Amino acid sequence: MTNTNKNTKIKKYTSRTELIEQLTRWHAKCGVAIRQAECVELFKEICARLKKTNGKKVPMAALVQQYNLNDTELFLLLFLAISQLLRIITPSTCKVTALLQTAQTFASSKEVLETLFEGKSVLFSKKILVLSGGLVDIKKNPLLAPPPLKAACTARRTFSAQRVLTELNKYVIGQENAKRQVVAGVFEHLAKCAQSPRESFTKNNIFISGPTGCGKTYLCQSLAQILKLPFVHADASQYTQAGYTGMSVGNMLQPLQLLANDKKLPLSIVFIDEIDKLREGSERWGVSSGNVQAELLRMIESRLFMTEDPLTHKTDEWDLSKVLFVVGGAFENLQVKHADKSVGFTQAAAVRQEPLSADDYIGYGMLPEFIGRFSYFVQLRPLEKEDLRRILLNPYNGPISQYKKLLHLSTAIIRPEMVEEMVNRAYERRLGARGLQQQVGQLFQEQFLQQTVKVCL
Ligand code: ADP
Repeated sequence: MTNTNKNTKIKKYTSRTELIEQLTRWHAKCGVAIRQAECVELFKEICARLKKTNGKKVPMAALVQQYNLNDTELFLLLFLAISQLLRIITPSTCKVTALLQTAQTFASSKEVLETLFEGKSVLFSKKILVLSGGLVDIKKNPLLAPPPLKAACTARRTFSAQRVLTELNKYVIGQENAKRQVVAGVFEHLAKCAQSPRESFTKNNIFISGPTGCGKTYLCQSLAQILKLPFVHADASQYTQAGYTGMSVGNMLQPLQLLANDKKLPLSIVFIDEIDKLREGSERWGVSSGNVQAELLRMIESRLFMTEDPLTHKTDEWDLSKVLFVVGGAFENLQVKHADKSVGFTQAAAVRQEPLSADDYIGYGMLPEFIGRFSYFVQLRPLEKEDLRRILLNPYNGPISQYKKLLHLSTAIIRPEMVEEMVNRAYERRLGARGLQQQVGQLFQEQFLQQTVKVCL
């Protein structure tokens, strides 16, 4: 390993939050974007794993002594061990120079480790040492060797839309049209971002409607996960106009600001839910929802967007070119058509078959200029019983498989009549797949009373 340049200005990170924020940016630079919350989880997990390893354990202090490690080297080892263990460094994403440079910016190992692991002593197992490629010979390790210069300059990932669709089908059940449209919209955005030299382009934001629990958020979130793009979920009804009490729409961008490079927000998806709650004519905290729509519109359409820190009043200008905005809402009254009332009583509302148009949304209370900023209008349909059955039994992240994983069960036998009962109940409750989750949760409640769980706090 190269010696640390003693003249390098070393920045000290005194708080855990500051350090984690830096790490989040660092991960993004390595080509792996990790949300801040995941970063915290990652450290908790590594703590747990290090403690659990049964191999020969080497106390941190002994390691430092044995290898005469300086602070930077120790931190780097720690990072490599974490990354290797969680398989987030691959030859194409690892840029050793970038790692070294960033490692040099960290404070003394003791401080770093104390901040990271909150003062707990951490043991390294032999296995992790091997995984981290050997401290001294890091550059000789083929896995960690810097990629060829050309590859390093074009650290890009390639995705095939068809493969992404196939992967998405494993998780999101039904909604075939919607999946195709959203994947097309996201790939159009990726293609625009990949243009070289990048020209300023009009964004193809996406507008999604569909009843509650039918997969609007899940579709977008799963897609972001498959593409390894940062994903932000915001609730439109929580926001207000800049300068008024409450959160201004710019606050939605905060998680992405942590990943920004030179004030440029990363390639990412921001999903703004409950957009129908901003229908014109309604009010929140004394602010017209129409004004909030107008504020959102500015953010969605602009390439550059100014935010103001509510406490310090410091303003910052962010480049949002690579952020794709998706808005979603249930638009409940639009999803049903009312049967003829001429006979003197209202018959049961039926699901509307014909697709909703931009005019329908404008009629509902969305501003025409807001609607004008979307080029994809996607409609999800209510889930049928067969969809609910498939979701319930889906081995890829279906509600039963989630509980099986959580409880470390190799099998979970649920009688067919019970499956049918849960499906029927969920269908009647009209909560979409959410109605299933509640029931499966109840089914496994007793199992949790038999559990012993070890948690890293
Ligand atoms: P909404 O349409 O209200 O945004 P969500 O996408 O949040 O609903 O769905 C709630 C949960 O239900 C998801 O987290 C997911 O587990 C499940 N779910 C909903 N729709 C589907 C679907 N089409 N396929 C698989 N799971 C689904």
